[in-house]
Amino acid sequence: MLLIRSLRSRLRPPAAAAAAAAGISTSAAAAEAERTIREGPRNDWGRNEIKAIYDSPILDLLFHGAQVHRNVHKFREVQQCTLLSIKTGGCSEDCSYCPQSSRYDTGLKAQKMMNKDTVLEAAKKAKEAGSTRFCMGAAWRDTIGRKTNFNQILEYIKEIRGMGMEVCCTLGMLEKQQAAELKKAGLTAYNHNLDTSREYYPNIITTRSYDERLETLQYVREAGINVCSGGIIGLGEAEEDRVGLLHTLATLPMHPESVPINALIAVKGTPLQDQKPVEIWEMIRMIATARIVMPKAMVRLSAGRVRFSMPEQALCFLAGANSIFTGEKLLTTPNNDFDADQLMFKILGLTPKAPSFADEEEVVPEHQRSEQAISM
Ligand code: SF4
Repeated sequence: MLLIRSLRSRLRPPAAAAAAAAGISTSAAAAEAERTIREGPRNDWGRNEIKAIYDSPILDLLFHGAQVHRNVHKFREVQQCTLLSIKTGGCSEDCSYCPQSSRYDTGLKAQKMMNKDTVLEAAKKAKEAGSTRFCMGAAWRDTIGRKTNFNQILEYIKEIRGMGMEVCCTLGMLEKQQAAELKKAGLTAYNHNLDTSREYYPNIITTRSYDERLETLQYVREAGINVCSGGIIGLGEAEEDRVGLLHTLATLPMHPESVPINALIAVKGTPLQDQKPVEIWEMIRMIATARIVMPKAMVRLSAGRVRFSMPEQALCFLAGANSIFTGEKLLTTPNNDFDADQLMFKILGLTPKAPSFADEEEVVPEHQRSEQAISM
C-alpha cells in the first residue's frame, strides 16, 4: 500500500511543477505541501516560510492543506474529545480571555474540585456519546502544593483509562516529577496552550511567562506524555502573531501531537469582552497552515466552533482539522449541540476516530486489579 502510494506520487506530476509549466505562479502553500508530502515533517521552519504559506491565496491554502491531510491521515476520521471542567473558577492567573480568572467580574462562581463519582459519570456519558478522549481541566496556575487534589486526579486518570478512553488533563504548569506521575497513572496527553506569539503574549497574560509555558511542555514531552498545545485567535493580535505561534509550535524538537486552534469566545467582564468575532476565513487560514507545517498533528477545531455553521465547519475539516470537542460545554463556555454534531458527522460522511493506546502501557485501575487477580 505504501509502495503504491509512493509510486503514484512519483508518477504524478507535482501540482506546483505542473502549474509552473503552465505559466501559473505557484503559492508557498502548494510548494510546501508538496515538499511535506514528499519528505515528511520538519522542525527547522523559518518564520518567513510559515508566513508565506499563511499568506497564500485562501483557496490555494485550503486545497493544499486538504492534500496534506489526505496524504497523512485518514481524512474522514475525526477524533471526538470531551472536556470537563473538574475545578472551575477562582484562578489566580490573569489570562485576559478567561472567565475563570478571579480578577475579572464575569459572574462565574468558583467551585471546588469535582468528586470521583461525578467525574467518572461524566466520562461514562462522554464515552456512550462517542467520545474517545476525556479531558479534565482545572483552573489553577499550577499543581504545586495541591497534593491531595493531584493524587485524586491521578486516580481519576487510572479509572478513565480503564474505561478504554484516552485521557488528557489541563491543570496549569507542571513540575518534572508531576509529569512523571501523570504518565505513570496512564495519562495520554497534557494540554498547555501557548495561546499566541511570544511577542504578543505579554498583552494577554502577565502572571506567567512564555518560557514557563515552554518548560511545562518540555516536562510533558520528557515524561513520554503526548503534547497538546495550540492557541487562540481573535485576541487582538496581528496576523504576524498567528504566524509566530505556529512557528514556535512547528519548531519544537517534536511537533505537538495535538494542536488546538481556538477562536475567542468574548466573555462579558473579561478585558477582551469587546473583541470582534473571528471569521471563518481566519480559522481556515490557521488550520490549513498548521496542517501543512505540522502534518502529523491532530489539528483540533476547538473553542468558537459553536459559532460556525455546518458548511463552515466542513471547510475547516477540509483544510485539515481532524479533532473536535463534543459535549455541552467547553470548560465554561457553550459548545455545539450533541444532536447537531451527530447530524454533521452523518451529512459530511465523517467517522469517529478510535482511541489509540500505542506506546502506552496497560494501566489497570485499582478496583479492576483485584478482579483480575481473582480471575487469574
Ligand atoms: S486560562 Fe487557565 S490559567 Fe488562565 S485564568 Fe483561565 S483557568 Fe487560569
